[in-house]
Amino acid sequence: MKRKRVVILGSTGSIGVNTLKVIERYPEKFEVLGLTAYNNIKLLEKQVKRFSPKYIAVNEDGFKYFKKQGSIAQKNILNVFQDLEHLVALKEADIVVIAMRGSAALMPFLSAVTSGKTVATANKEALVIAGNIILKEAKKFNARVIPVDSEQSAIFQCLEGRTNNHVNKIHLTASGGTLLRVSKSRFDQITVKEILNHPRWKMGQKITVDSATLMNKGFEIIEAIKLFDLSVDQIHVVIHPEAIIHSMVEFDDGSVIAQLGVTDMRLPIQYALTYPQRMDTGCAPLKFAQLKKLTFEEPDFKKFPALSLSIHVAKEDGTLPSVLNAADEVAVDAYLNQEIALTQIYKITEKVVLKHKNKKNPDLNAILAADAWAREEVRKEIYN
Ligand code: MG
Repeated sequence: MKRKRVVILGSTGSIGVNTLKVIERYPEKFEVLGLTAYNNIKLLEKQVKRFSPKYIAVNEDGFKYFKKQGSIAQKNILNVFQDLEHLVALKEADIVVIAMRGSAALMPFLSAVTSGKTVATANKEALVIAGNIILKEAKKFNARVIPVDSEQSAIFQCLEGRTNNHVNKIHLTASGGTLLRVSKSRFDQITVKEILNHPRWKMGQKITVDSATLMNKGFEIIEAIKLFDLSVDQIHVVIHPEAIIHSMVEFDDGSVIAQLGVTDMRLPIQYALTYPQRMDTGCAPLKFAQLKKLTFEEPDFKKFPALSLSIHVAKEDGTLPSVLNAADEVAVDAYLNQEIALTQIYKITEKVVLKHKNKKNPDLNAILAADAWAREEVRKEIYN
């Protein structure tokens, strides 16, 4: 069988690194066609040595570096800010893994689906802000979108790639993040370093903060609605601190199918790459007797208002998800730079969301305009 040629957008982040581990395990099935990175040129160079991609996309410094270094033909050293849409649309590419974060993934994501590729996405921003457009185009161009995010992958696995026929409800699990057992009055005394020390998952800084405030779960509600064509009322968030069940689907007859596994991203990544086939991942199997018990609780909406805000945004849809995503991103950045307190992230985001004049059924321009507007509004709140 011909090897699948894979492009990884954001190969030096945690999802990118784990994707390469999966590929390394199955050299007879996959080959790396393209790798892209914004900053971590050192790690990218190691990856280039190991996987010999034909293309890379880097910033200007990276271009100079690799041009001098000479391992990639100069014409195949692309610009990470301009050429991703071109890279993912290449005829040679079979699978595009979107491992980069942020709304910068939107245009390459669209380009990959309109080129009919299989897209394995860990990026939730693009789906949150423009999921309707992306999935409509995917259908039109016969592209397959397979989620890599552990919860969405779980739902996808429970549905076995089918649509939402006979689905009553999705139980979207949340491990609860760093603040689950911290009282709200102490939120602003917690250091950034403590917040970043997530008990279950090793992830990037932005998503770890979003996990602590449950904004990440809010984004996942919106993401699931788009991916699986559900209504807001069909999504139930349940706190499950052990993070063994990655989500569950409840069908019309009351039967529930859950997906369980160790907390290792190689599992959902590999499933997205090999779907519908299942193969050994090298991850340790679950040992139920050692786990002893799995626990569940309702989320505390008072303590984590980001959850209610995102449900409101999910209901209204239109350009509001774009505003929520952009506002949160700028506010979390300011928090990580220690310019605002943790609870300010929510307060500022809520203010900007409520101020926005929502536009229903937006086109791409309206979505991007809402994104730019929200960023500016948050900056005014923080820096004026
Ligand atoms: Mg997740």
